[in-house]
Order: sequence, then structure tokens, then C-alpha cells
Amino acid sequence: MATAAGDHGVETSKTNGSVFVEGKPLQVIQCKEGEHKLTLDEDAIRDVLLSPEICNKNVAVVSVAGAFRKGKSFLLDFFLRYLEANGSEDWLGNDTASLEGFPWRGGSERDTTGMLLWSKPFVIKRPNGEEVAVLLMDTQGAFDSQSTVKDCATVFALSTLLSSVQVYNISMQLQENDLQHLQVVALASHYDKVPKLFTEYGRLALQQSDCTPFQHLEFLVRDWPYAYEYDYGDEGGNKFLTKKLAIEDNQHPELQCIREHIKSCFSSIGCFLMPHPGLKVANSPHFDGRLQDIEKEFKDALKKFIPMVLSAENLVVKKIQGEAITAKQLLEYFKSYIKMYDS
Ligand code: GDP
Ligand code: MG
Repeated sequence: MATAAGDHGVETSKTNGSVFVEGKPLQVIQCKEGEHKLTLDEDAIRDVLLSPEICNKNVAVVSVAGAFRKGKSFLLDFFLRYLEANGSEDWLGNDTASLEGFPWRGGSERDTTGMLLWSKPFVIKRPNGEEVAVLLMDTQGAFDSQSTVKDCATVFALSTLLSSVQVYNISMQLQENDLQHLQVVALASHYDKVPKLFTEYGRLALQQSDCTPFQHLEFLVRDWPYAYEYDYGDEGGNKFLTKKLAIEDNQHPELQCIREHIKSCFSSIGCFLMPHPGLKVANSPHFDGRLQDIEKEFKDALKKFIPMVLSAENLVVKKIQGEAITAKQLLEYFKSYIKMYDS
């Protein structure tokens, strides 16, 4: 595993086989259960965002959010492999290397709720020659008890505010309560602070320009069981999503409203249906992430999904009120969003 979050700076951790992962996860925002207070590690964020290599470059911020134990960190470690490989065809790695980066697996102890940022930004040249700094964000949270729902909504909200691509990781189905969680993030007013921030922010953004407040939202459905109905991948996913987000006359007004809000908050929304990775990934306590233990269908899906998000052609640059922002500016947004939440 990579070094634990906590101290700052970039270091290299060597894995077995030929896969190298540079950097480490930094716990930049922590949410202590029951206290409803966010702790921001400003020094950690500053070290990353103000590094001379990226501070004046525009940023693409890719976040993966959703409930605990659904393979978010595991997926992000394949994002890291893709970025480390720098365009090489065989980025997925060799068959026996363990999977390193954001800590996945986890033990039985309860994880903290919060946000992790990968310490090393990756600089990618877009087809127009512009260099963009790619940042990866992992979120931790569960909508499983009343005491954590609010904290998770906060983390979810902040990660949406700060990212240009929000991958919403869900399991097996896209259910009405998955949409409700998004609604919390988007514009609802069930929780006192964050939604106010969102409403205000959304309104401001809409007033000052014609832009939607947020950029891309990607529903990523894990262990998709109905491939006979909708195919794995983005084509099947988008057909499925169109049906799920359709606004019908005979729907309850609340359901219509949720769908309208979600659509109005993001410039684009997609969906990708992932196959099950196999029983070793799901159940084996000895599984260390090596490719040889993962089903081919799942690996094929990773090869499609990850370039869809991270290739130079497809990268989505973070914009606020329609303007691309630099890493240095992103630091200011980090600070002011946290301040707004805590005030
Ligand atoms: P996170 O809490 O969402 O970050 O989940 P982790 O990335 O820590 O993964 C939790 C567990 O799910 C690990 O034991 C993984 O081996 C397993 N896992 C990873 N991806 C998948 C998937 O697509 N389907 C299933 N069923 N399990 C997965
Ligand atoms: Mg995780």
C-alpha cells in the first residue's frame, strides 16, 4: 500500500512488478463523526496546488464519490495507473502487480468521512497544446445512519463544487434515493448549510453567466446485473440514464423536480455500466488487486471508462462561472467553500 495520509510532500512508493505509483493520498478534509465539523488541512492543499509545476496551469479535477465499500478507491488506483503510464497502450499494468495508491480494501474499523487528494498532480497536454494539471480526489462517506448523512452530504457537496468531473459511484442500480442524495448536493434545502451554499452558488453562477454551476456528472454503476437489458459501457449506460432521468407526466411532482434540478446543475451527464469484477475482487481477503484475479470483462470496461474520463482529448477543465481556473485559484475556492460551510 502507499504511505498513509497525513504528512505532506511527494514520495515514490515502489510496488512489486513493474508498476510505479508516485505520490501519496493526502487527507485534505476530515469530518469527525458526530461533531459535524470539517477540518481542512490547508498546508497539504497548498503544497499540491501552489507547486511551481502547476500553480498557474488550468486544472481538471476528477472526483469519485458515493457510499463506502463500493470500489471507489480501487477504481481511482487504476486512474493513477493510467496517468502514470502517460499515454502508453499497456497502462493497465502487468498481471501480478498489486494495486497501489489510494488505500482500498480497508479493515473492519470504520473509516473517517472526508476527502483525499493525490499529492502528485499530473500534467497533460491537450490537443490544442494547453497543459492542464489533473488532480484526483477520493471521498469517503456513507449515507448509512442519520449521524453521517449530513457529513456525507457535505463531503459530497464539496467534492462536486471543487471538481470538474464528479464520478458518482453506485452499486447495481440507479435508485430513487441515489438521485435524492444528488438532490441534496444540488439544490435542495433539507440540510441547513451546504444546500444554502449550493443554492447561493448556483444562483450566482446562473445570474452572472449562462453556465450551469457544475460540469460533468458521470453515474458509474458497479456490478451491473442487467446486461441483457442495457449493455455494459457508456452506450447502454446512456440509454439507461435517459430512461431514469426522463420526466413523465404521470410522475409525482417531487420526482420530476429532482430530475429537473439535477439536469439544470450539470453541463453534461453520462452513465457507464460496469460488469462485476469477479468473486476474488469482491470476496477474497487475500486479493491484492492483481490483474490476474480480475475478470476480463471488468478489465475491458476499465480500458474504455478510464480514457473516457482522463485522455487528453476528453479531459474536462474546471470552470467557475464559465471561466477556467488555475490551481492557485482553486486553492482560494477550497478555502472559501470550507469557510462558508463552517460559518
Ligand atoms: P470504497 O470504500 O468505495 O473506496 O471501496 P474500496 O475501493 O475500498 O473497495 C472495497 C472492496 O470492494 C474491496 O474489497 C474491493 O476488492 C472491492 N471492489 C472493488 N471494485 C469492485 C466492484 O466493481 N464490485 C465489487 N463487488 N467489489 C469491488
Ligand atoms: Mg475508499
